[in-house]
Amino acid sequence: MYNSVIQINKSALKNNIDFIKSLIDKSVTLSSVVKGNAYGHSILKMIPLLQKLEVNHFSVYSSFEAKQVFKVAKNNFTILIMGDINNTDEDWIIDNAIEFFVFNISRLNQMLSKAKQKKKTIIIHIEIETGMNRTGFNEEDWIQIIQLVNANKNFIKVKGLCTHFAGAESLNNYVRVKQQQKKFKKAIKFFKTHEIVPQQIHCSCSAAVLAFPTKNYDMVRVGILQYGLWPSRESFIKYISKLNISTNPLKPVLSWKSYIMDIKRVPKGEFIGYGSSFLAENETVVASVPIGYGYGYSRSLSNLGRVIINNVRYSVIGTINMNMFLVDITSSNTIAINDEVILIGSSTDLDIPLSSFCNNTDQLNYEVLSRIDKDIPRTITL
Ligand SMILES: *Cc1c(COP(=O)(O)O)cnc(C)c1O
Repeated sequence: MYNSVIQINKSALKNNIDFIKSLIDKSVTLSSVVKGNAYGHSILKMIPLLQKLEVNHFSVYSSFEAKQVFKVAKNNFTILIMGDINNTDEDWIIDNAIEFFVFNISRLNQMLSKAKQKKKTIIIHIEIETGMNRTGFNEEDWIQIIQLVNANKNFIKVKGLCTHFAGAESLNNYVRVKQQQKKFKKAIKFFKTHEIVPQQIHCSCSAAVLAFPTKNYDMVRVGILQYGLWPSRESFIKYISKLNISTNPLKPVLSWKSYIMDIKRVPKGEFIGYGSSFLAENETVVASVPIGYGYGYSRSLSNLGRVIINNVRYSVIGTINMNMFLVDITSSNTIAINDEVILIGSSTDLDIPLSSFCNNTDQLNYEVLSRIDKDIPRTITL
């Protein structure tokens, strides 16, 4: 047994997928974004669950992640690599018809020459630079890639044309994102007039699906919403106020639980843990939990975190260590070693949402999730 467990709730996932589907047209493909070990949920566990919900299109960051998805995906599925392809994976990608973003000529040329040797076709999504200035073809390069594609039609299939927004989750970026949409539209027109008509035009991440529901084109690449979390607090407030509802339509999929390793009494006037960040102003009963920043429980939760033990909330005291942290349980006289400790998730009456980590520590929910230790076993709950 490991010293904590991550639970993946199947009905919450179904709830969220239904919610996402309610936001997009029937004709729009839902690509499930499972980069970052499926936002910490585990690629190996999530793919079968998603496929049961008829989600069969998966977007990953790297060829490494693509291989993980490939290992567990069944029947008809599509894998799309949005970012890095390691040189050693090029053959595997071509042999298995893995789709990928192309954002520079050198990658395209390299994959093309491999495809020619193998007498196979590569399936590409041309990424357009629209203003994020991360990856993507600048306008002045469009004609070059079009010529290269049109000269090698037997070896290159342009399946998609795509872009990514630089922060659709915040109104701060409204003007910039609007300009990106305009640029993307221009690119689509340009490619079409040069005989490149991709099946899948796509640009929307979770925030864009919420903010620009009429601009999804043929496919959406949705990550965070699937897992039951919002791209930002602002996007949540905006959504519920637009619909005039007060309940959260999403359900968090992930819970994280550990247990009490030790309990001890600390006399009044002593410092607790490393350094002097926590002073016991009274005699204090301290419980240790075998979880620390080494497992993704951020050090910035020092003296700030909360946990639930036996349906009561307790405070983290002192600094978070690599492998453990301490909880003040003075107010309880029933807690015992091995009692369950909820780090993220809910008990009968209480809830510790992942978003509370973010409020306290200035971390994104994306960041908290993707840093949770990959070795922690993930179990599926109904
Ligand atoms: C991560 C990512 C997404 C998904 O973002 P969410 O906000 O989690 O929906 C979509 N497209 C690209 C290119 C990404 O990197």
